[in-house]
Amino acid sequence: MSDREPYQPDNIFAKILRGEIPCYRVYEDDVALAFLDIMPQADGHTLVIPKLAVRGLPDMPVDSWGPFMQRVQKVAKAIKVAMAAEGLNLRQFDGAAGGQTVFHFHMHIIPRWEGIALRRHGELNEKPENLKATAEKIRAAF
Ligand code: 5GP
Repeated sequence: MSDREPYQPDNIFAKILRGEIPCYRVYEDDVALAFLDIMPQADGHTLVIPKLAVRGLPDMPVDSWGPFMQRVQKVAKAIKVAMAAEGLNLRQFDGAAGGQTVFHFHMHIIPRWEGIALRRHGELNEKPENLKATAEKIRAAF
């Protein structure tokens, strides 16, 4: 699959943005939506997506980076507090060869603790009750 195919409005994150499928939302404003990854690499693993029809990193309009990354930082701070994270990883997978599986641009925010290894990317579904509790905890930290 070419990385430069057009944006597909039926991708799963576009459906989440349109409210067609549910998500464990932690933050939303006019620029971005943040929600939990249902296959978290660590507890509190969150995805931040722009409210723009953007497929991958090269497609993000230059002027959108500032406002978008302000939201990423805001969400990251709340995650750090809520999850008592000792560190964070920001990850971005661009293109199929780069590991991207959902083709609506997104940043991963993954809490880290000393000695706790990450689980594999997009492999194990978390229990809904755990995701619900984690989302509530992060929402309360803004
Ligand atoms: P990518 O591989 O494109 O960087 O990341 C896509 C992420 O979306 C993966 O980490 C995967 O676990 C997550 N994911 C896949 N489907 C869904 C879904 O339906 N809802 C949510 N919240 N996350 C999803």
